[in-house]
Amino acid sequence: MAHPGIAGVPPANHGGRDARPPFDRFKEHIPLAPHTTIAVGGNARYFLAVHDITQLREALDWAGHQRLPVFILGGGSNIVFPDEELNALVIQIALKAIWESAAADTAGTVLATAAAGEDWDAFVAWTVERGWAGIECLSGIPGCAGATPIQNVGAYGQEVAETIASVTVLDRHNDATTEIPGEGCAFGYRTSRFKTIDRGCYIVLSVTFRLVPGGKPAVRYHGLETYLAKNGIRHPTLRDVREAVLAVRRSKAMVVDHDEPNSRGCGSFFMNPIMSAQQFVDIRATAERAGVVSPGDTIPAHSVPDGRLKLSAAWLIERAGLRRGFHHGGAGISEKHSLAIVNFGGATARDVTELAALVIAHVMEKFGVRLQPEPLILAPDGTIRAI
Ligand SMILES: Cc1cc2nc3c(=O)[nH]c(=O)nc-3n(C[C@H](O)[C@H](O)[C@H](O)COP(=O)(O)OP(=O)(O)OC[C@H]3O[C@@H](n4cnc5c(N)ncnc54)[C@H](O)[C@@H]3O)c2cc1C
Repeated sequence: MAHPGIAGVPPANHGGRDARPPFDRFKEHIPLAPHTTIAVGGNARYFLAVHDITQLREALDWAGHQRLPVFILGGGSNIVFPDEELNALVIQIALKAIWESAAADTAGTVLATAAAGEDWDAFVAWTVERGWAGIECLSGIPGCAGATPIQNVGAYGQEVAETIASVTVLDRHNDATTEIPGEGCAFGYRTSRFKTIDRGCYIVLSVTFRLVPGGKPAVRYHGLETYLAKNGIRHPTLRDVREAVLAVRRSKAMVVDHDEPNSRGCGSFFMNPIMSAQQFVDIRATAERAGVVSPGDTIPAHSVPDGRLKLSAAWLIERAGLRRGFHHGGAGISEKHSLAIVNFGGATARDVTELAALVIAHVMEKFGVRLQPEPLILAPDGTIRAI
């Protein structure tokens, strides 16, 4: 099913405006693949990087008068653009700044803000250098700060929902800037209001995090603990944890590295499925009937706070018979992580979506679970492409 996607709510066309884009930097028929980490996709009809809110408003206004859909781009690390030309104005958010918005208070916390176009990992490094705890486990995630609330970015036991104090947005309904408190963002596992009910309504301008100066680093993930223990680090600092996260991520090609084709993707391509205990029992029965699980086998799962179970999508994919390194056209399953679909060279968006469909079909057949893609997959008209 096609959902209302990138178009959001463009303002009414008042007519009579110049059909030519008003800015020097406006580009036409620009290849989008180089603006993404998976490096697939065709051209954008129009492309503009905006460096301040005035440019952003002018661009939105112009697109509104042309009745042209708008797509907001950060670092392109969670997007699969279509092979065909995207008939839209792609606005790359290049607002830059990092600042301490409030010094440590009586509760011992500090507020740190990143403009939406800031490189996320550079911001994490900046907070770690200052000894501010709260986002150290999110080191090495590519992309921009403004995209982090969209899917509630998370890794190694931390997610931004824990520390986001507020998100400052441009409301496309009324052109006003608004501050949305973290509690108002409807964060969930890889989701938020920005990705669901309010998709396309807001453009993130900056994100403010509440961090703890001198706070202890979070070591909640088994792989991280093992890495620290192996390296003889018993009382890790924030910097130790950042370095450990980066090392563990590199071992799985989960840090963007231009010399490593296994990192040419969108990170995890599928979300880990969450289900009730009864659904879990049903899945086990389906898998035993399909012969991919024996009665004595354990299906890896852990409880989430609402009591349901979260399964490992990577494990399901491997058990369904799709191995690391599997190729489909120029795309394939990463040799280092079965949850990542990557561009091994010359892949098209079609290769990527066909492979994703194959993975979904295999897991459905063997387990009766439908995996949901994590990245945004777009059709040429800017709607979300169903797989
Ligand atoms: C190697 C690799 C590892 C990864 N590891 C992780 C991980 O561990 N955890 C994780 O959660 N993700 C991970 N990702 C996915 C991705 O990096 C994150 O989702 C990241 O936050 C996307 O940021 P971006 O700036 O690239 O967003 P984009 O891909 O440019 O955009 C993603 C979505 O956000 C929207 N968007 C972007 N900026 C704005 C804005 N300012 N206002 C409104 N909407 C906006 C876009 O329209 C789009 O819908 C990984 C990706 C790669 C390639």
